[in-house]
Amino acid sequence: MMAAAVVTPHLIDRLPPLRGRLTADAPLAGSTWFGVGGAAEVLFKPADRDDLAALLAGKPADVPVTVIGVGSNLLVRDGGIPGVVVRLGRAFAGIEVVDCTVTAGAAALDGNVAAVCLDAGVAGLEFLSGVPGTIGGALRMNAGAYGREMKDVTIAAEALDGRGNLHRLDLAGLGFGYRRCAVPGDWIFTRAVLRGEAGDPAAIAERIAAIRSAREETQPLRTRTGGSTFANPPGHKAWELIDQAGCRGLRRGGAMVSEKHCNFLINTGGATAADLEDLGEEVRRRVFESSGVRLEWEIRRIGVRAEGGRQ
Ligand SMILES: Cc1cc2nc3c(=O)[nH]c(=O)nc-3n(C[C@H](O)[C@H](O)[C@H](O)COP(=O)(O)OP(=O)(O)OC[C@H]3O[C@@H](n4cnc5c(N)ncnc54)[C@H](O)[C@@H]3O)c2cc1C
Repeated sequence: MMAAAVVTPHLIDRLPPLRGRLTADAPLAGSTWFGVGGAAEVLFKPADRDDLAALLAGKPADVPVTVIGVGSNLLVRDGGIPGVVVRLGRAFAGIEVVDCTVTAGAAALDGNVAAVCLDAGVAGLEFLSGVPGTIGGALRMNAGAYGREMKDVTIAAEALDGRGNLHRLDLAGLGFGYRRCAVPGDWIFTRAVLRGEAGDPAAIAERIAAIRSAREETQPLRTRTGGSTFANPPGHKAWELIDQAGCRGLRRGGAMVSEKHCNFLINTGGATAADLEDLGEEVRRRVFESSGVRLEWEIRRIGVRAEGGRQ
């Protein structure tokens, strides 16, 4: 008698009933700034906050959940991301201004928040025009630019924990530090409440224009990049250490250390995630040899390396 074949149900069939869009084996390369990386085992775009809570409350305990914004600080590895990848869509992208308090959904683009503030005559959030991510990513990373960071403007945030329970966090509860916050890694931000102040629209527009032109001058903006690769170590600038270690323009496969800003890695065309990660590790090694400083990754590397790929 032949043994009965064991059929493993697809992950989608193990998830609770959901109203949002589920996609199996969803390629992620197009969803990140680097343009590299494998697929999500399942990609989920929740219909709304209750739908996201239903996923978190009802998924099997062994299924990991990873949330991504617009992938401007992410290196997705070539073997993809096991489990469910959550990407928040339009239902989480609202922006509302009442007096000078701004409530923004976690999927709202930082640049759109800055633009809405400009229209409403709200000053203090211009720095967001220099960060190409979402509000959720900005909270997680305590994103900052040109002298301000999320820590300086956040009043409160809302997040779902790994079981789908809703939490309201004040500034102290967010525990912001340099490019990080202390909220548990499996919590998903759904919105933020930010504080601005009444300002003259012409002056706000001028500050946004100044930020734009400073970025144009210093960052490789029209390339596939992930922003600053390494955090600035205390007392140092990462780019200076990288430059002194002779890494400007260094290449591996299709990956290269930017000539324009050497704390940026770029995908020159055909890079794999492994090319970029290995180049980053080579930079860390050379910087340590030349300066004794160990650089720490600021870019979040997620997922698994490709089997049989260049390891
Ligand atoms: C050209 C360029 C310039 C940049 N300049 C700056 C800069 O000046 N200052 C700066 O701070 N950063 C900068 N960055 C980095 C990046 O834009 C920020 O870190 C941004 O906040 C990331 O947002 P994101 O939506 O792209 O998040 P992703 O890159 O998609 O994710 C980053 C992290 O946030 C987590 N995350 C995303 N959404 C949520 C959510 N809803 N809830 C919980 N966690 C979440 C992810 O799990 C991941 O750990 C730059 C990047 C590029 C490509």
